[in-house]
Amino acid sequence: MKTDILAVPRGFWSLLTGMRVTLSQFFKPIVTVQYPRQTLKMPPRYRGHIELILDPETQRSRCTACKLCERACPSDCILVEGAKFEGEKKKSVTQYELDFTKCSLCGACIEACPSDAIKFSREYNLASTSKEGYHYDLVKRLAEEKERKSL
Ligand code: SF4
Ligand code: SF4
Repeated sequence: MKTDILAVPRGFWSLLTGMRVTLSQFFKPIVTVQYPRQTLKMPPRYRGHIELILDPETQRSRCTACKLCERACPSDCILVEGAKFEGEKKKSVTQYELDFTKCSLCGACIEACPSDAIKFSREYNLASTSKEGYHYDLVKRLAEEKERKSL
């Protein structure tokens, strides 16, 4: 019987404690992001999948298709092909495929690149119902980026 009598003030105290926590949170700044209407700005060290860099001077990729990134990748998820066009001394990248399902974001490819041609993207809005949805054509992505910037 003694326990039953104490249950009421204990319950009331518990209610007050809960209300106190609710009230204290009520006056703090909102930290919840209403995704996807609102998005976060990724910090500089965030690692999205790799992407080709658009050289601001030439408006082209700096990749010479040397394949060092392909060889450095421990997960075998890069495929690079290139061609030497008329009047050019070096090869240019014609195909750069990334299988992101196997990528561990280790950064070995970026470190191996002698031309500073690739970087980690800030991409995090990634969703797909198939594995193929995570196979990226980085040459195509670069062309799209160039088009966006020229608008
Ligand atoms: S970050 Fe690592 S695993 Fe991903 S593509 Fe580059 S080398 Fe391969
Ligand atoms: S991204 Fe860099 S390492 Fe990879 S093929 Fe191009 S130039 Fe070579």
